[in-house]
Amino acid sequence: MTELRHITSINDLTNHEIETTFSLADKYLSELGDIRPTGRTRKKRSLTTHRIGRSGHAGAGSILASLFYEPSTRTRLSFESAMLRLGGGTITSSDPATSSAAKGESLADTVRVVSSYADAIVIRHPRDGAAKLAAQYASIPVINAGDGGHEHPTQTLCDLFTLYRREKQRLKNLNNLNVVISGDLRGSRTVHSFVYALARFKARIQFVPGAAGMGLPPHVEWRLRNEFHCLPEDRKAGEDDVDLFYVTADQSHQLSLITPEIGIKMAKAKKAIDVIYVTRFQKERWKDQVQSYMKVDSAFLKDNKYKRTSVLHPLPRVGELDIALDRNPRAAYFQQASFGVPVRMALIAALLDFEGQHSLEKFASGFRPDSHVLYEQPHGIVCANPNCIVHDPLEGLYAANKHYIVDWLKPRLRCFYCENDIENFYVGHKKTRHYGLAGEAGKHMRDVILFADRAAAEAAGYKPRKSLSGAAKA
Ligand SMILES: [Zn+2]
Repeated sequence: MTELRHITSINDLTNHEIETTFSLADKYLSELGDIRPTGRTRKKRSLTTHRIGRSGHAGAGSILASLFYEPSTRTRLSFESAMLRLGGGTITSSDPATSSAAKGESLADTVRVVSSYADAIVIRHPRDGAAKLAAQYASIPVINAGDGGHEHPTQTLCDLFTLYRREKQRLKNLNNLNVVISGDLRGSRTVHSFVYALARFKARIQFVPGAAGMGLPPHVEWRLRNEFHCLPEDRKAGEDDVDLFYVTADQSHQLSLITPEIGIKMAKAKKAIDVIYVTRFQKERWKDQVQSYMKVDSAFLKDNKYKRTSVLHPLPRVGELDIALDRNPRAAYFQQASFGVPVRMALIAALLDFEGQHSLEKFASGFRPDSHVLYEQPHGIVCANPNCIVHDPLEGLYAANKHYIVDWLKPRLRCFYCENDIENFYVGHKKTRHYGLAGEAGKHMRDVILFADRAAAEAAGYKPRKSLSGAAKA
């Protein structure tokens, strides 16, 4: 089997691979960037030459297929522009109402067919974990362009590349940035990918939810603390920036500070904010669509600590970012959008080996082997995230019931597709037909079946182990 590479999460790329991709994006900007002056002075011009204005031939003869099951303009167009600028071609299915999906064709069948039409697939889908499912069935690279509330890894590459370029002008790099992330942290997949990457580059991250209930999802916060070695910082009441944000929500919002252990000493000493990342209210992912929501305007930029802040927004904005900021040199969001093309050119080229030394390593499964044990069972426990692809009536038929065992003694399972976690499950032994708490079973994995709760175990005909029989039934 030919080896290949899929990108469904920002964590599919190592820091080194991210930096290699950025050096390739730099190369495209210098070789194919628009050199027409757009500013009056030389200094200004150097700030604005980030548009790819010409096309190369590295990707001549290659085809990119974009499969968009959810509305998108910017992401799809920037991928297609990127492939055209590489000298390749594109084919598109972007209208869910007229696509094969509307006729009831599964994603698994679609990507198997499209694998014989194109050289890489870009997919956007409303279900969490859809890109991972597509990758399981495709025989060409799959790039996640946003799957439900899960991740949007190429947006994060654009966000990071913007910071990498801006920090480079200040003779700095991506490490140890002081970042504020505001808005709908629960519903925004771009935030989830972004915070993992920031943590890996040792950022100090301050979270300011746009309204009550919009904090980070618990499983993302758990990963930041336990897998990315982030620690909450001690903070005196009133010490930080809450009052500098204009918040219209009447409930006081939660605020947590997280920083990687290694960076903690430096972060505490540092006051200046390098980045403010603003996100919109993801109305389509919330039942209550008329909540009040925070707004970021020029008021907070007046404080000295925001003197050199880069204001980022993945766009589109829907009122949370004042248009009066657009001409402010700290506004980096249109520059961020313009980097969508060179960054996606670099990623496509690295996946399809257009540029020798910049190629990404390939694997038989398309993914770097995971250190966690993968547990697969036809019945028993299923993902607890209702928006996971495994719960889609059609697509779910093609998804296996798979979980990573993140921790066996303090039980934690992670859905193979959407990466939501399940804590506190039960383990049944097929031979004895008894079940117990996961932590009691040790690491012995043979002949076991996992259940979400005691009722499910008993419905399957399993009896509680002695240690459980005295306890109240859950
Ligand atoms: Zn799931």
